[in-house]
Amino acid sequence: MNDEKLNSLETQWPLITEMKAGEEVTWLNERTLKAETDQLPITLEEIEEADARLRRFAPFLATVFPETKATDGIIESPLFEIAHMKRFFEKQHNEKMEGRLYLKADHLLPVAGSVKARGGMYEVLKHAESLAIENDLLSTEEDYSKLASDEMRAFFSRYSLAVGSTGNLGLSIGMTGAALGFQTTVHMSADAKEWKKRRLRDRGVTVIEYEDDYSRAVEEGRVLSAKTENSFFIDDEHSKELFLGYSTAALRLQEQFRENGIIVDADHPLIVYLPCGVGGAPGGIFTGLKRVFGEHVYGFFAEPVQAPCMLLGLMTGLHDEIAVQDVGIELRTEADGLAVGRPSSFVGKAVANDLDGVFTVSDDTLFIYLQQMAALEGEKLEPSALAGIEGPIRAKESGWLDSHLTESQRKGAAHLVWSTGGSLVPEEEMKAMIEKGEHLYAE
Ligand SMILES: *Cc1c(COP(=O)(O)O)cnc(C)c1O
Repeated sequence: MNDEKLNSLETQWPLITEMKAGEEVTWLNERTLKAETDQLPITLEEIEEADARLRRFAPFLATVFPETKATDGIIESPLFEIAHMKRFFEKQHNEKMEGRLYLKADHLLPVAGSVKARGGMYEVLKHAESLAIENDLLSTEEDYSKLASDEMRAFFSRYSLAVGSTGNLGLSIGMTGAALGFQTTVHMSADAKEWKKRRLRDRGVTVIEYEDDYSRAVEEGRVLSAKTENSFFIDDEHSKELFLGYSTAALRLQEQFRENGIIVDADHPLIVYLPCGVGGAPGGIFTGLKRVFGEHVYGFFAEPVQAPCMLLGLMTGLHDEIAVQDVGIELRTEADGLAVGRPSSFVGKAVANDLDGVFTVSDDTLFIYLQQMAALEGEKLEPSALAGIEGPIRAKESGWLDSHLTESQRKGAAHLVWSTGGSLVPEEEMKAMIEKGEHLYAE
């Protein structure tokens, strides 16, 4: 992007100046006020179909991943009310937070330890199912635990899978691919943590490392995969299957809401806050929630100050034609799961009419919340997973809450913060991050 174009963008969108200066910002999407047309790219039927597919695979998953035995192979996370964190924010901001504050604990999702278990596992399983059915080795009426047999592993070993990742998607796809017997290659960006690569190599997954950012790792992976026979590339930037996998979270949440007596209706709006990298996970989940709960759902995405790609893409309408580096943001963040410089245009266009806003959070703030969450709620999250937790405060302080919801709606609201990763972080690393947060909080 040339200087002239950049200057005119900055004149049109003064928020860019603050973003460049490293400030935390909140962008409200004015378009949602006049949104009439439904552009959500998936239907409720498709979400239900995806959920049914995951249920068909449950007996297989329970066989190959012993940690999922207790839930019969259903990969799901708990829902918690986090009243201590709510009080923390109320004290910090000297203001009462109306409604209730919940945490959807995807950091506890088994196998992958992150939200990527939803999309990544789903796309690999769907691909495996298609291959097996096409080759007359499986029918949807059968018990899928047969996929764990030596014969089936030998069949899948003739095929390869590839993906580009900052760490967690690679972990999800690598673990699932290896469990089925696929030859799996993960192209890791420079952000990927050492332990994630080690974990994959221990499972026989090929990990190729790049000195460069996520977009480059994806590009290289895509090119190499295209040259490899029988190779399937999982495309985080464009995949509808990943998106669908993520969206199934909405059906599961509906069940959990029912069990916990949490109502979503005109008097009880649901406001969800989702950490965003390239956009697939938050986009899929938000779209799923819109399909399941309808107009009473509101949503915000959260990004690091150093990686506000979706905010830039949505605000300017340029989607993947703009990267944070274009405006001089260097993409230096400890929130590796969100270290993406260019957003998915597929996701940006999908949510452009419905998403209520995007806000950014500094790395220091992420570490402070990481420490508070561990101390007050006993939940250990990785930095990326804390991007959304300040959402209710942002919604309030930006004026969005008061202008979009009546007083009784604000009182009846459920604020749902999505936690996206952390349970597989090695103990020593978690300890160091908690200490870092403690120091920052004391300052
Ligand atoms: C990948 C990831 C996200 C965001 O998902 P995208 O699909 O990249 O937007 C959020 N949190 C964590 C921990 C992640 O690994």
